[in-house]
Amino acid sequence: MALRNIVKKGDPILNKKCRAVTEYNERLHILLDDMKETLADADGAGLAGPQVGVMRRICIVVNEDGEMLELVNPEILESDGEQTGPEGCLSLPGKYGMVTRPDHVRVRAFDRNGNAFEVEGTEMTARCFCHEIEHLDGHMFDEHVDHFLTEEELRAYYEEHEDEYEEEGAEE
Ligand code: ZN
Repeated sequence: MALRNIVKKGDPILNKKCRAVTEYNERLHILLDDMKETLADADGAGLAGPQVGVMRRICIVVNEDGEMLELVNPEILESDGEQTGPEGCLSLPGKYGMVTRPDHVRVRAFDRNGNAFEVEGTEMTARCFCHEIEHLDGHMFDEHVDHFLTEEELRAYYEEHEDEYEEEGAEE
């Protein structure tokens, strides 16, 4: 496995629509393994293909149990509810903004061997699914943000919602 370089905002690769994965081969497995290693190294909550310079519809999402879910060609089947909370991105380090997302989503995706599955997420996991899948269409969370939070605003938010967050400021 190897660490991949994380592409930062300003690189046009982050604004392009990714193509579907069509071959479930060794190359895909290496890429997914590298993405998981890169995500763990960056201590993030999720990572999408274009963030490592790969224009394919793949992403990794860390769920509430800390498991890394591999999603190939993911699509959101259903979403409901609403949540508003701070969001960040490994491609925009140190920047956080309030983003409203669905509170529950159901996603259909394929695993690394091409087997279809469905997975559900609520709260932070739902937020992460939305954030990562949006990357695959060339969109980023800051499009939903009217201003970035100051450190004081971010700290105040986490203090108020202490019980809901295990760690502060996970970036996706
Ligand atoms: Zn992101």
